Amino acid sequence: MAAVSVVSRVCETPNCSSEAKLQCPTCIKLEIQGSFFCSQECFKGFWAEHKKVHKKNKKESGIYNPWPGFHFTGALRAFPVSPKLEVPDTIKRPDYADSAEGIPVSERQMRGSSSIKILDEDEQEGMRVACKLGREVLDIAAAAIGIGVTTDAIDRIVHEACIDRDCYPSPLNYYNFPKSCCTSVNEVICHGIPDSRTLEDGDIINIDITVYHKGFHGDLNETFFVGNIDEKSKKLVTTTYECLSQAIDEVKPGMRYREIGNVIQKHAQANGFSVVRSYCGHGIHQLFHTAPSVPHYAKNKAIGVMKPGHCFTIEPMISEGTWRDEIWPDNWTAVTQDGKRSAQFEHTLLVTETGCEILTRRRDNDGRAHFLDSL
Ligand SMILES: [Zn+2]
Ligand SMILES: [Zn+2]
Repeated sequence: MAAVSVVSRVCETPNCSSEAKLQCPTCIKLEIQGSFFCSQECFKGFWAEHKKVHKKNKKESGIYNPWPGFHFTGALRAFPVSPKLEVPDTIKRPDYADSAEGIPVSERQMRGSSSIKILDEDEQEGMRVACKLGREVLDIAAAAIGIGVTTDAIDRIVHEACIDRDCYPSPLNYYNFPKSCCTSVNEVICHGIPDSRTLEDGDIINIDITVYHKGFHGDLNETFFVGNIDEKSKKLVTTTYECLSQAIDEVKPGMRYREIGNVIQKHAQANGFSVVRSYCGHGIHQLFHTAPSVPHYAKNKAIGVMKPGHCFTIEPMISEGTWRDEIWPDNWTAVTQDGKRSAQFEHTLLVTETGCEILTRRRDNDGRAHFLDSL
């Protein structure tokens, strides 16, 4: 690692009083004052000791702030994001994977259309396989969660688990999203970007996985507990999970998509929580996000009636306080406007003749979500 040249000071290395013109690049990035060295030799020689300053600084003051003057709604802060990871060319990629703006052209062509695709037998089987692989990746990510683990480390594990399964991680470069999954902590509603923040005792974290395998996307997410969780957060996460379960119970041919939100909001409200309105469930198959749109709030105007062969997600985001959201200047991270916590669960569903198949169901533990294991 090379140091960046700046004005003259005295070298930080103990017993070296030489004039120092170099500054540690990490300290510059973190806006840590000082950290001057006389030479690359001194910088490297004192590195093992010096680098502790970075860690301490991040932990104690969260001084890294890419958006000076921006008002955060809660306690969570932005942390540095590591460089983009690559996917081998041997893995089939969606159309947005290599475009400069990350535009999903095939999806854009369908925009404005409310017609819902009916998947044939082969397409249904393609979805079964993609969703099963997506579930495997989420289970691997779940096992990595712990106090002191960065969301970036979880992202790397997700990325590698996708590649191991001949999958492209669908979020990567989708409208330029920089990482392979979404990690949404505490007041983050959805679309949190994995970064170098370490998980803390008492955090809740949602991990949202979508994989693209042989032309089909499989999408699911769960909220997990980190260490000891307060009672209110337990209730929030449990209620959110129940909202998804109750909504899935309604899925069958003839049901209107707009009914789903009524079921979810009723249960959320009965427990004193609110339903996020800016983000909806979506049709999914060869396209990541397409018709139908499935709002999670009551009295919505969603178009369409469920038919066998329809494939879509339900993914309620339930908040402790206000349902209103705002987006960080990274243009992705959606947080609650009051900084209170929000939770989410998601499954990809295939409508059958009599009900639905939960394509992303957990294959062990009776299909129950991971957080229930720790209750
Ligand atoms: Zn998802
Ligand atoms: Zn989704």
